[in-house]
Amino acid sequence: MSHSLEQFKHFVAQTSDAPLGLEIEQAEGTFIHTKQGKSYVDFISGIAVSSLGHRHPEVVSAIKEQVDKHLHVMVYGEFIQEVQWNFAKELVELLPEPLEQVYLVNSGTEANEGALKLAKKSTGRTKLMAFYNSYHGDTHGSLSVTGRAVYRDPYLPLLPDVSFLQFNNLDDLTKIDTETAAVIVEPIQGEGGVIPACYKWLQALRNRCTDVGAVLIFDEIQSGFARTGHFFAFEHYQVVPDILCLAKAMSGGMPMGAFVSSRERFKSFMYNPPLNHVTTFGGHPVSAAAALASLRVLKQGNYISKARIIEKHARSILKGPGIVELRGLGAMLGLELRDQELTQMVVEYCFNKGILLGWTLHSNTLIRLAPPLTIPLNLLVETLETIKAAILDSLEIPN
Ligand code: PMP
Repeated sequence: MSHSLEQFKHFVAQTSDAPLGLEIEQAEGTFIHTKQGKSYVDFISGIAVSSLGHRHPEVVSAIKEQVDKHLHVMVYGEFIQEVQWNFAKELVELLPEPLEQVYLVNSGTEANEGALKLAKKSTGRTKLMAFYNSYHGDTHGSLSVTGRAVYRDPYLPLLPDVSFLQFNNLDDLTKIDTETAAVIVEPIQGEGGVIPACYKWLQALRNRCTDVGAVLIFDEIQSGFARTGHFFAFEHYQVVPDILCLAKAMSGGMPMGAFVSSRERFKSFMYNPPLNHVTTFGGHPVSAAAALASLRVLKQGNYISKARIIEKHARSILKGPGIVELRGLGAMLGLELRDQELTQMVVEYCFNKGILLGWTLHSNTLIRLAPPLTIPLNLLVETLETIKAAILDSLEIPN
């Protein structure tokens, strides 16, 4: 074991007994470079974060500019910080009604926590509904609505009054009733194995929530910011949530989350008592500067069509023996393989060839494909061809 691996394992709390353990020297564009001089194509974008590639020059320069002005000055919500309102304004300009005001936090799970609290406070109801196979984060509230018992069980009791429904099941929607405060859903389940909601089902879910007065929360933490071939995945479905949760790619590699809703709904955070939902670092100015720069780059570039081009190439190359299905939309794709052994072999083969792939949290037969939207076309095709060759070689089929 190298000295640094030993130190990493000794001093940094570990999340599993098998960390990937790449020793990072630098990351630029589509590539991650290690201290040992190896370079990897980042085909998962740090789990759907680096959609503009690593260290996008405009993001880096916005960060530097903000660092020279000020860092943290006050807890969220007290001082007027130009970079925060500028970002919030440009974000809501992209969104339909009633998504008109932004609450900035630090991470995805905090966005979901805030959304769940906002739904409870603004409706006066307590009952929460979520879907089997979902993933919403690892803090207690988000974990309470995460649809895999194996992750919840070690931490019980969690939030009371939470029930789970079958994703994409129309009949289950009748269980959403007039006591339901909120229903939280990923329009495309990410960690569950990249499973898009059915068009009609998501519309029916929207209608049911409207009928019974339940708040519909879309967790677009993974699917947001052009990754799926629309700015937000809900645009594929022509339905609008009451609260939209965002993070990951939002701030170009800096940590930030947000939940977006109506001005009217957010008023419930202002009173009874005042300051009933606050955060010290939420919307940190450096993260907000990075988010504003990222948003501007995304708006100016042709990343939405690039996400669709990525999907088109993936669909034309990734078919044949060993492949059960390629699921997803745009550059949020999941490649379902025949079995766990093959999946493992393909991920390892690609890793040895300098391509970073990964699993999703709830599936061991699915390879996550989420390249930066900035990936050059020739590198995209070359990488997809290598993945295909990895499958054929692992199956011992000549290619
Ligand atoms: N929701 C979804 C859909 C996610 O994919 C994730 C992270 N994988 C989260 C919430 C939690 O985000 P974070 O890790 O920033 O707390």
